[in-house]
Order: sequence, then structure tokens, then C-alpha cells
Amino acid sequence: MMLRIKRVPTIVSNFQAEEAGARSGCGRNCLKSCCIQGARLPLYAFKKENSANGGKAAAEHDKESPVEFLDSLLLGEWEERMQRGLFRYDVTACETKVIPGEYGFVAQLNEGRHLKKRPTEFRVDKVLQPFDGNKFNFTKVGQEEILFQFEASEDGDVQFYPNAPIDVDNSSPSVVAINVSPIEYGHVLLIPRIFECLPQRIDHQSFLLALNMAAEAANPYFRLGYNSLGAFATINHLHFQAYYLAVPFPIEKAPTKKVTTLQSGVKISELVNYPVRGLIFEGGNTLLDLSNNVSDACICLQENNIPYNVLIADSGKRVFLLPQCYAEKQALGEVSAELLDTQVNPAVWEISGHIVLKRKEDFEGASEENAWRLLAEVSLSEERFQEVNALIFEAISGNSALPVEDKIADAPKSVRGSTRRPTMVGGTQECVVLQ
Ligand SMILES: [Zn+2]
Repeated sequence: MMLRIKRVPTIVSNFQAEEAGARSGCGRNCLKSCCIQGARLPLYAFKKENSANGGKAAAEHDKESPVEFLDSLLLGEWEERMQRGLFRYDVTACETKVIPGEYGFVAQLNEGRHLKKRPTEFRVDKVLQPFDGNKFNFTKVGQEEILFQFEASEDGDVQFYPNAPIDVDNSSPSVVAINVSPIEYGHVLLIPRIFECLPQRIDHQSFLLALNMAAEAANPYFRLGYNSLGAFATINHLHFQAYYLAVPFPIEKAPTKKVTTLQSGVKISELVNYPVRGLIFEGGNTLLDLSNNVSDACICLQENNIPYNVLIADSGKRVFLLPQCYAEKQALGEVSAELLDTQVNPAVWEISGHIVLKRKEDFEGASEENAWRLLAEVSLSEERFQEVNALIFEAISGNSALPVEDKIADAPKSVRGSTRRPTMVGGTQECVVLQ
């Protein structure tokens, strides 16, 4: 039994269409050995947090370092690529509006994003899949799509090298690349240790890198997002997305209910009165603590085959973790035709309340009620959400960050005992949903 859905894949690179595999001396100025020798790219090295006084250091760091610098580098390079015509359409010309209502969902009409592409089949019932070098991956993009290298500084200070060599042999650089199908201004991809060809799965080191990028940008309108496989990631090569949107996301304004505070100082809350159930991780003694607790939770979801999305908000101070089941429902034929017709893929941005619509009629008729109805389909049920939370807390506790207030101990045994099962509901036949 294999669950699959059909969807139109988003083209994130101009080299995605040409899936030609490895060619030597390919002449496309790619990132592979054929073209990479002698290549140079800007390198931004961020200040590594001292774990002893991390929380404080981060706060001071916000004030004292040239925080605008990452912003200006990123946007300067991004605009330069726009001038060069590397994007598939002009995202600044896409209509966007805030939907009237309590939450302020943001709707964007983006008719160009999925044009001229055939639907592709995606397997949605396996959150962990091995990297496949024959499929499109970011080592196949052109060097012009890469904006800069991003890594921790060796000497504890922010460093910038406008023209640094790409050290392919001794290290695997993490890079920031454009998404050629942007959904907002400055839409980029962060690709950790690109030459290691990691599959789409969170690990501690990579998540810390993403959190560092959010902290370093120090701009509340710059968020990073992550989609697991089965939760609308389309490329199985580890990447985060990020862009600027100069309004609060509805998810950031949603009320929350505190669940617990971990020994690390990280506070965990639940979203309340939001269509998608999810957890919020914030605070902690250091950025590393926050990163480790979130990573443990993500790894737990992956290992239990539960698709999820992550939003890094508030300059890395708050992280939203959202297990979801939309693709699974879609594959099982449980999503209404009305919702399927919109072809909206509820990934991290949609779940956060920035909804990219493909049809003019959906954009014109966008209402809070419609947005809510779509997102409610994405959410786990309350019962399942609590089961998943129990798994997460067990995983975090197991990694010696025992909750101060152990709420899990109070959970009924039946809930705790019934959680070790795969999330995907077994069926009798393979389900393929056609759009
Ligand atoms: Zn090449």
C-alpha cells in the first residue's frame, strides 16, 4: 500500500526542468565538479553563540551587531537576480490582500506559479525517503541562482567575504539560493551543507543553522519555513524556505495556552482558536537549547512517520511545529472536491495564514471562513494531536530535558499506550487522487 497524490510541482530552480543527470563540463555553470572548480561566492559568517551566556548574548547581539547587514546582502543579491531575469514571474506584481476578519489571513493571487507544468505524482506516506541523486536536487542549480554562503564564523565575530572560494574539498558549504518561483519579496532557500546531499529531514545541526539565520536577519518580517515530505515538500534535498512579508502572520497572532516549561527554559504552548493544531516553542537559556528541543520534536515526528511543517518566527525566538494530515486525506479521497479544485497546497506558509491562490475567483471570493475551512482540513484531530504530543514530550524527555511541569504524566494511560503506530491509516488499495 502506497499513498500518492498528484500535484503540479513548483519550479524552484531554472535547472529543475532539465533533469539530465550528471554531465561533465556541462557548460551550465552548475555546482557540480564539472563547473565548480575556482568558483567564488560571497560568504557571510555569523557569530556563533557562546552557550554559557547565550540568551543574554543573543539579546545584546541584536542591538550591537550590524543587523541590517544580512537583510541588505540577501535583498541586494536577490534584486540583482531579479534584474537579470532569473525569476519565472514578477512576484512584486502579484496581487495580495489582507482578508477582512479577526485573524487577518493574507491572500495572494499567483497565477504564474504552476503554469505549463503537468501534475506529478508524489508519494505522501513516507516522511523519510533516501536521497536520490538522479532526481532534481540543488547541486544541479546554476551558480547564478546561489546568493551567498552562510556559515558560523570561526573566530566568534560576524565576517563577510564578498568573493570567497567555494571549498568543495574540505567543507560542505551551506548556501542561500533564490527560489525562481517566489511567493514573496526575497523568497530564498537555505540549503545546509549542500554537497552532502542530505535528504529532506531535520537534524540538530541544520535546524540550528536555520535558527541562526532568523536570529541574524533580526527582522520580524523575515521568517523561515520547513515542509517535511508528506507535508508538501517537493524536493527531497534538505532545504528551508524564507521570505519577507511585512504583516504579522495570523498564526503569530493566535492565542496560545502554556503546556510546560522544559529544564532548558524553553516554554512549550499549544495554539488555541486556530484552525490548525500545533505547538509553539520559545525562549530557553540559549538559542542552542531552543534549537535542540525543536529538533528533537521534529526527529520524533519523522521517526513516527508524521508529516509536519515548521515556522521560525520572531527572529528565531518562536518556533511553530505543525503536524498535518492533508496530503494523507487527499490521497485517501477524504478532501472535498471544492477544496481540491482550488489546488492550494497547504504547506507552511498557507498554514501560517499566507495563502497563495491560483485562481482569480478564489482570490476574489477569499474570506476568513474559506481560509479556516481549508486549514481545518490540514489539522490533526484533537485526539490525534494529543497522541502526537505525548510522543513528542516523551522524545524530548528521553533526551534529558525533563519538563518542569510534567503534563504527560497526567495523560491517561490509554493515550500514552496507543501511540506507537504509524500515522498513515491502512487501506485496501493504492490511492491516487487526480486533480
Ligand atoms: Zn556543470
